[in-house]
Amino acid sequence: MTFTTRFAPSPTGPLHLGHAYSALLASDMAAAEGGQFLLRIEDIDRSRCRPHWEEQIYDDLNWLGITWPEPVMRQSSRMSTYEDALKSLWSQGLLYPCSCNRRDIAAAVGAPQEGVPLHGPDGIIYPGTCREVSTRTGSMPVNLPLRLDISKAANSLSNLFKINAQQTVKTALFEESGASPCGLTGQIPFTAKELTDSIGDVVLSRREMGTSYHLSVVLDDAAQGITHVVRGQDLFEATRIHVLLQALLGLPTPVYHHHKLIRDDAGKRLAKRDDARAISKYRAEGASAKQIRAMVGL
Ligand code: GLU
Repeated sequence: MTFTTRFAPSPTGPLHLGHAYSALLASDMAAAEGGQFLLRIEDIDRSRCRPHWEEQIYDDLNWLGITWPEPVMRQSSRMSTYEDALKSLWSQGLLYPCSCNRRDIAAAVGAPQEGVPLHGPDGIIYPGTCREVSTRTGSMPVNLPLRLDISKAANSLSNLFKINAQQTVKTALFEESGASPCGLTGQIPFTAKELTDSIGDVVLSRREMGTSYHLSVVLDDAAQGITHVVRGQDLFEATRIHVLLQALLGLPTPVYHHHKLIRDDAGKRLAKRDDARAISKYRAEGASAKQIRAMVGL
């Protein structure tokens, strides 16, 4: 299979040094393997995406010397694919509508129990308020967030959770060729209980979005034939959700390569609002693409 990777930015702000590192690393890895580097625009959050940020992405990546085949996949043109996948999960009774807002969730969680994690990859772990009371039959609601019943989903996947070599409990595995934030690499195991306890019922369809990052990313990686996902370590924890969704939707699981995060002088991960480290700012100051590579350690 041809090594195929991608860079998948959201046009919600300027690309910074962290994005440059991710895109250059993925493009370098594809070149070293004689493979392909693809670009995907993750623009499902219409309230935050702007055409000028998308233009700036193309411009900055070109300037960095990165090339990709056209046409570029844009998530906003794939809503019907996301809806079909949601309908399939809905028809299996794995989704339920949720009417809780952030405040309801925080109040329901109350004082956390000792030793029980409070936060998962999407923030506070959902306490399950709507899980038993929401209807799961009839046609799929369109204007309410839909959550995945993660325990039911994991329990339906006996072919994902197996007794694997060196494991005494049933685990799912994915292959990590980079490293987790605490250095895990190779075959990464996780159990159904870990999903329930440390991730919880994630939202798969957001109100006014009709999808979510987790759902779209797995469908798009599969549609683009991605064999290796190269991305920042901040997304390592979310990978278990992606592996679960791939199994539920009959999609292949690529190899994951989570890379180091580029941090500011205080050690904080760069964010879109860190305009001081925007690639466009370095460009305006006369930096070269080679200097950007040196700055991120490539
Ligand atoms: N769109 C995501 C971001 O900008 C990237 C998601 C991914 O690489 O899986 O952080």
